[in-house]
Amino acid sequence: MTGSDLARALDAADPIAPARDRFRIPDGLVYLDGNSLGAMPSDAPAGMADLVERQWGRDLISSWNRHDWVGLPLRLGARIAPLVGAAPDEVVVADTTSTNLFKLVAAACAARPGRGRILTERGDFPTDAYMAHGVATMLGDRVVDAVAPDALPEAIGPDVALVLLSHVHYRTGARHDMARLTALAHAGGALVLWDLSHSTGAVPVALDACDADLAVGCGYKYLNGGPGAPAFLFVARRLQPALVSPLSGWFGHAAPFAFDGDYRPADGIARFQCGTPSVLALAALARGLATFDGIDPGAIHAKSASLTGFFLDRMDETAGLHGFALASPRDPARRGSHLSFAHPHAWPVCRALAARGIVGDFRPPDLLRLGFAPLYNTHLDAWRAADAIVDLMRTGAWDRPAFHAAAQVT
Ligand SMILES: *Cc1c(COP(=O)(O)O)cnc(C)c1O
Repeated sequence: MTGSDLARALDAADPIAPARDRFRIPDGLVYLDGNSLGAMPSDAPAGMADLVERQWGRDLISSWNRHDWVGLPLRLGARIAPLVGAAPDEVVVADTTSTNLFKLVAAACAARPGRGRILTERGDFPTDAYMAHGVATMLGDRVVDAVAPDALPEAIGPDVALVLLSHVHYRTGARHDMARLTALAHAGGALVLWDLSHSTGAVPVALDACDADLAVGCGYKYLNGGPGAPAFLFVARRLQPALVSPLSGWFGHAAPFAFDGDYRPADGIARFQCGTPSVLALAALARGLATFDGIDPGAIHAKSASLTGFFLDRMDETAGLHGFALASPRDPARRGSHLSFAHPHAWPVCRALAARGIVGDFRPPDLLRLGFAPLYNTHLDAWRAADAIVDLMRTGAWDRPAFHAAAQVT
């Protein structure tokens, strides 16, 4: 069987193949960047138009009650909960991932007084370290200690307040063992905050089974919530009464519409909201989350492993000859749903692929990164991408001046 026949056979046997119809993907486009911006749900335009015309336009302010706008952050949080192995009352949609990091890093530090270090992984997504530094600077009695991933277990000492980690690494796709690292942190008396931005909706996440404390995640990647979609946060139920958000806005108050002069945090996960949410953005995220309706999470995770494994096999057959070096783990249980390859010409290759309708992205200095979204990518997408890479390299077609030009967003 040729590679494309095998791809077609795997797609024909894929139990969640029909989910692709839930998205509007331009004809002929091979979209391998759903780990950066998820594809648009087909019903997002109509869903948003309905909200704008009927709810905002006609029902106006009564919509906060009539359409339960005020309950949207908790309702959408409850829909995300099964995707991350949490209970519905442990997740809320709010703010951005960066803001949620700030809130939970600060809340964790307050819960671990006298412990001076926030431990994180060197080379992780910058905003996570930036926000931790912001909290440390504001508090004045903490430092951020960034160590190599292998050094994490040993670095968890009695002076660590919080271990802050991405579950799946944004560059390499390496996936941490959440159960093991959480247990190690707890043994050292620290809390753990997991960033699930590159995991949620693609690979298994079992927050409660791992006894995780805190988590944040992104709404616009595999959750398909649209550009700049609201993010989510998780606080284990056992910790909710003890933790308070430093951004003590009125939407986290026990009774916002009592207009009480004193701040009194709401019970439960609601206290981690800050101000009035963007209802338009929540409406788009609701359409994104609906793309998961009725789909077995196990089938999503199996498809992720199948797509990435199939692509890797194609690259192994050919692309190694052209200098692509895998920067992601080979074991599917140790990686997320994207694969990165180091190559000295990764940027022009990425641009040349885009010119052929194959969209991945580039992470400096030399990584070509390709994301496989289980709900809508196919094995044929993976085959086309690998085939195009080989063709570009064999013919030298990647090496045109236009493909070397810089861009602001990569
Ligand atoms: C995508 C991503 C973010 C995004 O943060 P924003 O506040 O939405 O810009 C943060 N952390 C990680 C690990 C990410 O992958």
